[in-house]
Amino acid sequence: MNAAPAKKAKFLDRLAEENGVAIVVVDADGSVASESNNNSMCRSLYGSAEFAPECAKFCGSAFEMVVDAGKTVDYECYAGLSCRAVPVWEGGKPFVAITGRTFLKAERYRKATERAITGDWRQFRPTEFFENVLISGAGQNLERAANRLEKFTNRERNDLLEVDRLAVAPQEEAAAEQPSPEPDPEEINRLIEKFKSETERAAGDLETAVSFDVLKDRKAASEWRSLFGSLMKLDYRGACMAVLEYLRERYSLDSVVWLERQGDEFVKLAAIGELADKSLNIGISANNERIVNAVRREAPIEFRERKADGSGERTLSLFPVMLADEVQAAIGSNVRVTDTEQRRAISRFAQTLASQLEILRLRDEVARRDWLARAIVKFNENLRRIDSEDFWLRITQISAELLGAERASILVRNEKSDSLQAKAAIGARINLLSEPAVGTRVAGRVLEIGDPVAVTDIEGVGIESAPAEWSYKTSSFLSYPIIIDDRRIGVLNFTDKAGGEIFTQADLDLLRAIAPQIAVAIDRTAMKDKAGEYEQLSVTDPLTGLLNRRYLEERVAEEITRSKRYRFSLSLMLLDVDDFKSYNDTFGHPAGDTALKAVADILKESLRGADVAARYGGEEFAILLPQTSSEEAAQIGERIRKRVERMEFPHRRVTVSIGIASCSSEVDSSKDLISAADVALYAAKNHGRNNVQIFNNWGESLNDNVH
Ligand code: GH3
Ligand code: MG
Ligand code: MG
Repeated sequence: MNAAPAKKAKFLDRLAEENGVAIVVVDADGSVASESNNNSMCRSLYGSAEFAPECAKFCGSAFEMVVDAGKTVDYECYAGLSCRAVPVWEGGKPFVAITGRTFLKAERYRKATERAITGDWRQFRPTEFFENVLISGAGQNLERAANRLEKFTNRERNDLLEVDRLAVAPQEEAAAEQPSPEPDPEEINRLIEKFKSETERAAGDLETAVSFDVLKDRKAASEWRSLFGSLMKLDYRGACMAVLEYLRERYSLDSVVWLERQGDEFVKLAAIGELADKSLNIGISANNERIVNAVRREAPIEFRERKADGSGERTLSLFPVMLADEVQAAIGSNVRVTDTEQRRAISRFAQTLASQLEILRLRDEVARRDWLARAIVKFNENLRRIDSEDFWLRITQISAELLGAERASILVRNEKSDSLQAKAAIGARINLLSEPAVGTRVAGRVLEIGDPVAVTDIEGVGIESAPAEWSYKTSSFLSYPIIIDDRRIGVLNFTDKAGGEIFTQADLDLLRAIAPQIAVAIDRTAMKDKAGEYEQLSVTDPLTGLLNRRYLEERVAEEITRSKRYRFSLSLMLLDVDDFKSYNDTFGHPAGDTALKAVADILKESLRGADVAARYGGEEFAILLPQTSSEEAAQIGERIRKRVERMEFPHRRVTVSIGIASCSSEVDSSKDLISAADVALYAAKNHGRNNVQIFNNWGESLNDNVH
């Protein structure tokens, strides 16, 4: 066994990890000889049939690029990752080390995460895809790693010794002295000429290869590694806390804070010591130049202010955390760090951690979006099940449940009197229905402004406090306007988040996602109330009590408009009783009527809140299913079909055939939707009756109808 390769692999691993870059060594055939700290995105992309050809054009051609250029080559791949292909030697054979695979620009990285979260990279499992995303801090890590790599690997050739004492432990150094196999002299000479200029440049850059201060001290190094190794097992906030604890211990700081960038401000995310109780407001744009300078000088920005009681000064030393070319966060200390070495160490530490913490933040974000998507699906499901009687109460309940609020109310604007009326309230302590003044006052303003508002203190109704101010210690109050088109419909109020927590931006995002559905549901209820009024205008069918064809056709048109505007799915089901003529002929018309009534009752039982059932013609029925895909509609249809089949009619078994169609780019008018459902119904009849068919396309279904 030759120990040299193992030692080298270890060196590469460490070099890659310390600098937050990937180092992947490939040979002339493009085969991978070693892989250190590889970017998880590269693993996913290269492993997919769809994107591997793209990878082949970049990293897959790295060896040729280097040979053609005769030196180190820089490139940015299609995924936006920056790479440096460095010529290296191993056992007398030429290889190329692809170094980097890291985002140098925040914009590239954001684009990639967007693609992964909502775009064409969504096919990859987020946990795997984001497992080890590499983003370079401002500290020129890629360059540093590539330079050290060049020096290290070329020392075989040029005797550039003493290069990596810091990164290689002594016992490993001894193992490194083992001779490597004799190189093929001819090949070496040929390639030496090619790579010579590059090697010389690398030698000149020796001074830029600087290692972490902690790595000089074994104990410190092991502490640092154990922190670094444990971070990825924590959640974002937990990791920030772990970092703060480590810094406070190691540099004997008094109180430390982690500030996260949110837009143009640093916002406190975690703190230890007295800074935990202090409010900190630091604008970024005003300090932009100072931030960039601080990172470049590897020193903190110092803030000073006189204490309110005149008993001296308060200071805050801020170490910005740069991610690619943007400031992402900052670590603050309430005591000045005066030692230059320490300032430098903390500053570097901040940059080294940046990408790790960003991955954690991103994982949280992905999980949150995932949760949000699932919560919304569930919310819609619940919303559809609401029936008209307890509509207001249920809508309040399911919204409150989703937000984890113990109290909630819904106020709806009465257009005639232009006043807000409480429609429902849940929660024990203060009944917003019996004390409407408070809720109404805030809600009135909210509806007027058209933006959500959070209030600290219900008694004081601090509506003046900025809507964006979420960090309340007391129970917060959230008021959200429901607006459809330009119509101001009502306001949802929430208080007392379970567990005494405060309402956050996440709650607001959630409300923003469900508000259109709530608005539509309210609107639809208003329609139903109107339908109730229509009863005298004979929109209902006297035999079955269902709505009639005229009403249905109007509704189809309206629901199509809605489904287009909100991109909701919409399905229509047409149902026809099989061989009903013979039923009538055999058992008489009154028996036929009784059977039709029984079928109508089955339909009524099978409906959800938002569904609309109508008697479409003699023994034909139609059901309009908003926010329902054709697959879901088919399940409902199948349930109805079975129920009819199992029902005991007085004379003989009765069955129905069902056709289903959904709105699509092809089927986008009420005429088309009804015709499409009819085509599907015809297909069901042709399939031997007593079955459900979904319309798939005009041609196919029409062919079906030919025979
Ligand atoms: P299939 O639909 O399976 O093709 O056969 P079918 O016999 O049902 O078809 P068709 O449309 O020819 O007959 C419909 C029959 O339904 C005609 C009529 O006797 C009966 N019908 C229509 N409206 C009513 C009604 O209001 N009351 C009763 N009792 N029967 C009706
Ligand atoms: Mg018929
Ligand atoms: Mg029939």
